[in-house]
Amino acid sequence: MPNNTFLSSFWEGFQIVKSHKTDSLISITLVPDSIAFCPCGRASESIHDTQWRTLKEAMILGTLVELLVQTRRIKCFSCGIKTEAISWVKPYSRLTNRLIEYIEKLLPLLPFKHISELTGVHWHTIKEVDKQRLKRVVPDVPWSQLRQLVKDEFAISRGIVMPQLSQMHKRTKCSGLV
Ligand SMILES: [Zn+2]
Repeated sequence: MPNNTFLSSFWEGFQIVKSHKTDSLISITLVPDSIAFCPCGRASESIHDTQWRTLKEAMILGTLVELLVQTRRIKCFSCGIKTEAISWVKPYSRLTNRLIEYIEKLLPLLPFKHISELTGVHWHTIKEVDKQRLKRVVPDVPWSQLRQLVKDEFAISRGIVMPQLSQMHKRTKCSGLV
């Protein structure tokens, strides 16, 4: 790819050194092109070593994207040897923040299985993303104030009979998933 300046701007602090496309996957290799920062926020020019990390990225023009990223372990004046902080991926995550945000937008719309097929991310990983999302968006339930707990959706297609919700007490408080 002769000019990667535009694409590289998606991954702050890194530049594309190699890219490859097949019918089903775009592979992009990134190396650092700026000073490293410790998770504590302190910059460091002292590199201890480097390692390669494989990440899944959001799709580009409908094609799955995989990143091979060279990351640095640095010697921080305050913290010692630490893996550098990268603004677009969380520590130890195999998904970029952009892909996680995309999955979070799909979660209220599609079943896990369909999201998995669409993004190439394992079902269990999507479930974990959903757990983290729910922790943020679902308010704490005041369990001590609840009088009754009811479920507002039933799988009628699997033979489960709809209960008479109309008979529920007016002051019943419901708790459901978003
Ligand atoms: Zn530090």
